[in-house]
Amino acid sequence: MITINEHYLKLQASYLFSDIARRVAAFQEKNPQIEVIKLGIGDVTKPLPAACISAFHKAIDEMAVDSSFRGYGPEQGYAFLREAIATHDFQARGADIGADEIFVSDGAKCDTGNIQELFSQQTRIAIPDPVYPVYLDTNVMAGRTGSYKDGRYEGIVYLDSTWENNFVPSLPEQKVDLIYLCFPNNPTGSTITKAELQNWVEYARETNALILFDAAYEVFIRDESLPRSIYEIPGAKEVAIEFRSYSKNAGFTGTRCAYTVVPKECRAYDSMGTKQLLHPLWNRRHCTKFNGVSYPVQRAAEATYSAEGKVQVRELADYYLKNAALVRQEMAHLNFRFVGGENSPYVWIDGGRDSWEFFDMLLNKAGVVCTPGAGFGRCGNGYIRISAFNSPENVQKAMTRIREALS
Ligand code: PLP
Repeated sequence: MITINEHYLKLQASYLFSDIARRVAAFQEKNPQIEVIKLGIGDVTKPLPAACISAFHKAIDEMAVDSSFRGYGPEQGYAFLREAIATHDFQARGADIGADEIFVSDGAKCDTGNIQELFSQQTRIAIPDPVYPVYLDTNVMAGRTGSYKDGRYEGIVYLDSTWENNFVPSLPEQKVDLIYLCFPNNPTGSTITKAELQNWVEYARETNALILFDAAYEVFIRDESLPRSIYEIPGAKEVAIEFRSYSKNAGFTGTRCAYTVVPKECRAYDSMGTKQLLHPLWNRRHCTKFNGVSYPVQRAAEATYSAEGKVQVRELADYYLKNAALVRQEMAHLNFRFVGGENSPYVWIDGGRDSWEFFDMLLNKAGVVCTPGAGFGRCGNGYIRISAFNSPENVQKAMTRIREALS
């Protein structure tokens, strides 16, 4: 008899986006004349930068000719892209990361979800609340949690991110082995300072723990004092793996390209307490289960590092950041307290009431869709997330409608 992995039965069906869609559909049926403005999604709306498009075209033409055609590529990514990443994303900022420490992939979602395979079943896991749900769900699937009770899985150490700690969780009181951190944060839009990140690196070094650092929103950082990579922190290479993506910086959500950095000296331990390096393990996993990102997509990603590509990527992020500034301005005017939106495309707003109640009010009174914070974890209740991924015209229109509805 074939039996299932019963850990899947513990998973909470994600009602968040289907619930939102159902409420929006019901509103539109009753109010067909109102054009609903969607500021709920985390997907980009602008097309790929021109530099990426022309590199993409060129690479496709190469695939049409015998002499430049390419079949299976290296699973870890082509040297041209890995070298560009190491040079521009790390060495240029004083982080000593080499091309052979980069693993190119088709998404930070897959990588942050798959990385847990390297660790034992007994690993004690710390996950922020609120959180990008992939970290949690993939550990549930792998059987590292108990069942779901009162909005939380047994066996997980939740790191509360609240107004009081400025949405940067404090070090856990109990011992943990694996820590997920994401900055700039989804959903809160909060950032971490070098000193705060240094605390986490020191904690991991002192307690033989490992940090998984998700920097998918790095491109939105405008405050030069903030770290863009965990490897800007001394001592991080032994204790941290970093995830990056072209989804949000260059609009690759539908094109798919990302990468993971596993430094050569990054370590974990076997059951005898002997140090084991993670680079060969991730390399083995990647080569066994992944066939590499397509050649044209890697050429398009490489183009983000060309002189014109860098300017276009910056303009793209600025475009969304201007929208975020409009949201911040309006929320301040309406006397809501909020974080995010300065170094992040998300603004996290304290509605002073239940998240869903606030969601319904914005939908019914202003025809604007946001994301209720409760969908990202227990600490998200009372908050909503407004995303800057839309046109400036729509964001402006949405803010005017919210002002009229709430004033
Ligand atoms: N990490 C975070 C925090 C995200 O919010 C997202 C997407 O929304 C991802 C990773 C996924 O990125 P990718 O498109 O590269 O899979």
